[in-house]
Amino acid sequence: VPVIEVRNLSKRYGGTVAVDGLTFTVRPGQVTGFLGPNGAGKSTTMRMMLDLERPSGGQVLINGSRYRLLPGPLRQVGALLEAGAVHPGRSAYHHLLWLAQSNRIPTARVREVLELVGLADVARKRVKGFSLGMGQRLGIAAALLGDPPVLLFDEPVNGLDPEGVRWIRNLMKGLAAEGRTVFVSSHLMSEMALTAERLIVIGRGRLLADTTVGGFIEAY
Ligand code: ADP
Ligand code: ADP
Repeated sequence: VPVIEVRNLSKRYGGTVAVDGLTFTVRPGQVTGFLGPNGAGKSTTMRMMLDLERPSGGQVLINGSRYRLLPGPLRQVGALLEAGAVHPGRSAYHHLLWLAQSNRIPTARVREVLELVGLADVARKRVKGFSLGMGQRLGIAAALLGDPPVLLFDEPVNGLDPEGVRWIRNLMKGLAAEGRTVFVSSHLMSEMALTAERLIVIGRGRLLADTTVGGFIEAY
């Protein structure tokens, strides 16, 4: 049973075709990788999956219906996007507290996710002073806050040290093992080979392959 269905999805920006008729599904219980070079259309696709951007054509269904970014969305779909908006003067704790309150998530959950991502000790520090890795951990804490069954991660390991990369990789595998639907983008095949079971490969906004990681390595 696919949880996410992308159907003939397209996005044009003026003369640029960012996403060009993509069709694929994402299933629960495994990590599905979204592989393609920079500029291939991965972020644009993920923003449309989250209803942050309107498709030029086609649609995205999550659990059979169109996902709408309404109050409470963090309980259905959690996401780590590139350049996630965090007020730099806020502490990690206050950022998550604000997200919890605006999504009607119990505030006790804030402490739990801070522990989970290893930020409990710096929760009172301003986000302004955070390293890239700490910022990624905070973004992941926000994605996990509502305990959502569906998780989208856009280039989560970009700019991280090996320890951070391994941590995120194991986290994604653990979330999938719990039965969640995990969809993660990367421009690195080496990273996808270590993280994902299934692969959706795109280039210039078009589907190039929809296969297992093993099948992709054999074919290319
Ligand atoms: P990826 O995430 O795979 O690197 P993107 O989805 O960011 O790719 O970009 C796909 C294409 O769409 C690129 O050519 C990019 O320049 C273009 N693009 C993305 N967002 C915008 C935007 N807001 N306005 C104009 N062009 C955009
Ligand atoms: P404020 O900074 O708004 O005054 P408080 O320090 O009074 O907030 O804490 C408000 C609530 O948040 C309390 O229930 C407290 O236990 C909890 N809390 C405080 N610090 C943290 C933290 N680092 N992580 C998670 N919860 C915390």
